[in-house]
Order: sequence, then structure tokens, then C-alpha cells
Amino acid sequence: MDTGDRCDRAECGAQALVRAQFAAGPLFFCGHHWREVAESATRAALFVVNEQEVPAESSMLPVA
Ligand SMILES: [Zn+2]
Repeated sequence: MDTGDRCDRAECGAQALVRAQFAAGPLFFCGHHWREVAESATRAALFVVNEQEVPAESSMLPVA
């Protein structure tokens, strides 16, 4: 997931912090919309990548 991913809720457009991978494909959620669906989506998804707790930058080591 990169910072270009946006929440899949049409009216939202916030940066996506959670990616839920379903058999039919991934869905992206901002933190707000993820809370609305987290319980059922976690059960239904193949896996969930939640970057709300860990900033994406932490996994990128400086080149220098
Ligand atoms: Zn949203």
C-alpha cells in the first residue's frame, strides 16, 4: 500500500490506512470507514493490512 491509495467509499476520498483483501479483490478504507466495517470485514477478508498503527515510512530504510 502506498500513500496514493484512497478509501473506496465513494463519498470519502481520504488516504487509505487499511487494505482488506477479499477473494474478489482488495478494498481500501480510511480509518473512519474501517471502524464501521472492521468486525464483519475481518471475518470475510482473506487478510487485512492495517497501517493505522505503523506508519508506512517505518518500513523504508534510508538509502544513505
Ligand atoms: Zn473513508
